[in-house]
Amino acid sequence: MVIGLKFNKYTQACKDLDDEHMDIFQNILLPVLTGQSVIHIRTHEEPRLIGICEAIAARVSADFKLLHVLTEAGVETSLLLGEDSETENYSALNIGREQNENYSSMHIRAVDAFVQSKEGGILLILGADRASRQSDFVRKLKIHAKNGLRGEDATDDYVPKLILFHTITTDTPDSLSRSIQNYDLPMPRDGTLVSVVHGVCNDLEISHPEDEIMVQWVRALRGLTSVEAERALAQSMTVHEGSFNDESLNYLQSLKRNLIQQTGIMDFHEPSTSFSDIGGLDLLIDDLKMRRTEFEHEASEAGINPPKGCLLAGLPGTGKSLIAQSVAGEWQLPMLEFNMANVLDGLVGSSEQNIRKVLAVAESMAPCVLMVDEIDKALTGLGSSGGDSGVTRRVVGSFLTWLNDRKSQVYVIATANDLREISIAMPELLRKGRWDDIWWVDLPGQKTRRKIIEIHLRKIPSSRIEDAVWSRIDDLSQLNSGITGAEIAAAVNEANRISYHASKTLDIKQLTDSVKSIKPLASGINGLELTRGWMKDFARPASSAQAAKIESSSKYYLSGLDVTQTIRQAKEE
Ligand code: ATP
Repeated sequence: MVIGLKFNKYTQACKDLDDEHMDIFQNILLPVLTGQSVIHIRTHEEPRLIGICEAIAARVSADFKLLHVLTEAGVETSLLLGEDSETENYSALNIGREQNENYSSMHIRAVDAFVQSKEGGILLILGADRASRQSDFVRKLKIHAKNGLRGEDATDDYVPKLILFHTITTDTPDSLSRSIQNYDLPMPRDGTLVSVVHGVCNDLEISHPEDEIMVQWVRALRGLTSVEAERALAQSMTVHEGSFNDESLNYLQSLKRNLIQQTGIMDFHEPSTSFSDIGGLDLLIDDLKMRRTEFEHEASEAGINPPKGCLLAGLPGTGKSLIAQSVAGEWQLPMLEFNMANVLDGLVGSSEQNIRKVLAVAESMAPCVLMVDEIDKALTGLGSSGGDSGVTRRVVGSFLTWLNDRKSQVYVIATANDLREISIAMPELLRKGRWDDIWWVDLPGQKTRRKIIEIHLRKIPSSRIEDAVWSRIDDLSQLNSGITGAEIAAAVNEANRISYHASKTLDIKQLTDSVKSIKPLASGINGLELTRGWMKDFARPASSAQAAKIESSSKYYLSGLDVTQTIRQAKEE
C-alpha cells in the first residue's frame, strides 16, 4: 500500500480470487498496490486489458477514476467504476492525431497530458509495439516509472496515475526492463472461459448450459484466446441453433483444430488411439501405465514427482508418434503437437515468439499431452558457426527451462531419429532428470511384426479377408525382416487396395507380395548397429522382444517365391 494514497489493504484487494485471477493479481495488481507506476503487458488479447483496468480500480483503489485508452487514433476517456459517463463530470485528455504528426509525438503528448491531469486514473496504451521502439517515448515512461504513482510534483492530496502499456509481441524495451514490471498475460483459463460461454449465451439469447455440460465445453475451449473462444462458440451455437450437444461439440473441436493449425506451427488432436493399437514396445507401455497413476494426489503424498515426459528415439516409422497418440487416448487428454524445426523456421526473431505461443497454448490446455516432433532435426548443424545457431540455442533453451519449471500438467513426448546429433549439439537436452526416461524404439522383431500385421488386418472389415489369412500371419511375419511398423501398415493397406480393385477378397498371396515388395527404409541407413550399441548406454529399450536384423539383401527380400516355400528354403539352408 502506498503511503498517502487511498489504497485498499492486501487481503481486501485479493479477496476471493481463483488461481487464474490470482496470477494476474500477483503480476499486475500487487505491483500497483506497492507503488509501481508503469507496467508492460504482452498479449494478443486486447479486450482482456480493459477488464484488468476495471479490476485495478475495484480492488486496488477507487482513486483510479478514469480510463484513458490510447490507440493510433488518439485517446478516449471514460469512467472506470461504472458511474454514468454522461452525467458525471470529468476531464478527458482530448488528444487526437494531428495532421502529419510524427508517430511517437502523439504518444508523448498523451503521456504528458496524463501526468499533468488533475484526476487519478490509468493510461492504457494499446498496441505500443512500434512506439516502444522510439527512444523519446521510452524515456517518458522511464521518468514516470521513476516518479511513481504520485508523479513528479506529488502533493499530499495527489491522486494515482498508472501507465499500462501493451504490446502484442514486442519485448519490454531494454532500458526499461529492469525498472518496471513486465508480464506475459497467460491464455485464458477456465474462469475466463466460463464467462465467455455466459457472454455468448446472453448475446445469442440461448439457454446457458448446466454445470456438467459447462465443464465439457470449457475443456473444449481450452487452448483458444478469449476472442477465438467467443467466435468459435458463437459459430457453433449459430449453426446448431443454441444446442449444447455432441454434434455442436464436435463442430467446435473442428473449429478449434483449424484455429490452432492456422498458426502454422502447431496441430491439435483428440486421439482415440489406445495401447492395444500398438504392436510391441511392452516395456515402454508398462512404464507409461505406471506414470498415469503418478499424477494422482496419493503419489505426490508419497513424495513422487509428477511425470514430466519422455524422449523417444528410433528410426522413422517405428511407432513413436503412435505412442504419443495412444498416451493421449488412454489418458483421455487432448494432444498438442509441434515440430521444433517448424518453430525455428520463421524469420529470426519470430522463432522465440513461436515457442512462447506453443508453450502458452499447451499450458492453457493442461492437462494435455504435448508432442515435440523430430527434436533432433532442429539441432542439425548447430555445432557449426552457421547463421542463426544463437536463435536455435535460445529457443531450445527456453523450451528446456519451461520443461524444468512448468507447474501445469503437460506431459511432454519428444521424438528423435538420432540422439547422437543431440549429444554433440546440445548435450543438456539429454541430461539426467530432464525427462522421466529416454527410450530407444528399435525395429520390430518377428514376434512384434506378427502383432503389428494382426493389428492392421483387424482394421479391415473381416468380410473382406479370406479366413485362411488368419492362420498364416506367422508366415507373413517372417518375411522382409527390417521393415518398420509404418511399412507393415502400408503393405497391408496396399494389399487390401489391390484386392479391392481386382474385386477379390484379401488373400495370403496378395499380402505376401505386398510385404515382400517393400524395400525397408532401414536397409538404406548406415551404421544402425553402431547406433544400437550407443543407445544401450544412453536409453532404455522400449521392447523386451529381440529387435530385427536388417536383411535388405536377404533371400526373403529378393525372392519371388511363395512365402512358405521361401521360409522352408531358408530353414533348410
Ligand atoms: P517418424 O519418426 O517418421 O515420425 P514414427 O516413429 O513416429 O515415425 P509413426 O508415425 O508412429 O512412426 O508410425 C506411422 C504408422 O505406422 C502408425 O500410425 C501405425 O499405423 C504404424 N505403426 C508404426 N509402428 C507401429 C506399431 N508398433 N504397432 C502398430 N502400428 C505401428
